[in-house]
Amino acid sequence: MISLDDPTRFRTLAGQAHQVAMNMLRPISRKYDLAEHEYPHELDMLAAMIDGLSESGANEGAGAAGVRRDAAGSDAGVTNGANLASVMSIAEMCWGDVGLLLSMPRQGLGNSAIASVADDEQAKRFAGVWAGMAITEPGTGSDSANIKTTAVLDGDEYVLNGEKIYVTSGDRADHIVVWATLDRSLGRAAIKSFVVAKGTPGMRVDRLEHKLGIKASDTATIIFEDCRVPRENLLGSAEVDPKQGFAGAMATFDNTRPLVAAMAVGCAKAALDLTRDLLEQAGVVVDYDRPALVQSAAAAKFLQMEADWEGARLLMLQAAWMADNRQPNSLEASMAKAKAGRVGSDITLSCVELCGSIGYTEGELLEKWSRDSKILDIFEGTQQIQQLIVARRVLGLTSAQLK
Ligand SMILES: Cc1cc2nc3c(=O)[nH]c(=O)nc-3n(C[C@H](O)[C@H](O)[C@H](O)COP(=O)(O)OP(=O)(O)OC[C@H]3O[C@@H](n4cnc5c(N)ncnc54)[C@H](O)[C@@H]3O)c2cc1C
Repeated sequence: MISLDDPTRFRTLAGQAHQVAMNMLRPISRKYDLAEHEYPHELDMLAAMIDGLSESGANEGAGAAGVRRDAAGSDAGVTNGANLASVMSIAEMCWGDVGLLLSMPRQGLGNSAIASVADDEQAKRFAGVWAGMAITEPGTGSDSANIKTTAVLDGDEYVLNGEKIYVTSGDRADHIVVWATLDRSLGRAAIKSFVVAKGTPGMRVDRLEHKLGIKASDTATIIFEDCRVPRENLLGSAEVDPKQGFAGAMATFDNTRPLVAAMAVGCAKAALDLTRDLLEQAGVVVDYDRPALVQSAAAAKFLQMEADWEGARLLMLQAAWMADNRQPNSLEASMAKAKAGRVGSDITLSCVELCGSIGYTEGELLEKWSRDSKILDIFEGTQQIQQLIVARRVLGLTSAQLK
């Protein structure tokens, strides 16, 4: 049975993440929003702290690197584990700044991919790397089964050829997890992920994107031309099993979508907290003991936003809790991402609206949060794609039956 309260066990961790967000991320939030593509060197110290916690065994989901689903670790046999800890601490960090969280060394979405799909030997070998994740290509975004980057086995190496776009941390990370097909004629079952170390001949960063939000995070185009990677860098099994289909590579999303939901939950909470303060300063007090319909329009709107936010937060906790309990959570991960992505955008933009010119101008961070939150409804699968996945799962239809 899921409890609706935050697990007591992780309240200290969440409290520490909140302190870090308030004291280390917020103060440099605007600086790196304005200095797009400049590396936030202040994060090095923070990343070293998280590394230290990991080495001491005290890090139970303090970063965004994700956790191994099949690890018989300290959380075996208990209901609240590292997935729950991760979403709670990420939400707190994103209360500070989403772009900076996405820029944290060794906490990339590629690290989550490694945590999800790598075997034990690979998990050990790639421990401590900073990995971006490269799925999207020109002409292939939502339809990730359609990727064209190829991986051809030649001796003991795979030879990669293709172009990847919009790779978060694509310039700064030291490794990239690349999705490529072993044989396009075999369809989605032939898509595998490969870990490619930066500096491997044949791999180059072509350009960086200018964006609406999360400007602290670098977003790169990477070209692979006859790029040779050791065959043991193929994550998981090299076998092409049409029965398993896309499941191997897609398992990554069951881990990463709750994390992205957590980012949206944290960013929206930041907007709600500041808006509540600003409304109070303007004489609007939200009264939880009276029905919304007898309160001012601004207070009623605030109550509705908080209810929406709570719904998103609960779905996020559920998806993570299921992962901790070894339960299949693809449906719940997509529900959490869909709800949190939409609610995050709606809330942050509504807060700008409620606060008027203060919301729209750079004196406060409200306008920034409305820009930052939009990406959380796009990457790791758009709003529409999450809804499609939920519909397929609920109706029991395959991707061929419901497109
Ligand atoms: C800042 C940023 C960072 C990113 N980081 C990464 C990263 O680290 N790694 C990576 O691999 N990718 C990354 N991406 C890419 C991102 O995941 C894709 O942009 C996203 O999956 C959508 O793909 P697309 O842009 O090609 O849009 P499209 O797939 O072309 O979709 C366009 C619109 O059509 C809708 N649509 C598409 N198919 C359907 C359907 N079947 N039914 C209903 N509606 C549909 C979509 O929801 C969307 O609204 C990033 C993108 C950005 C902007």
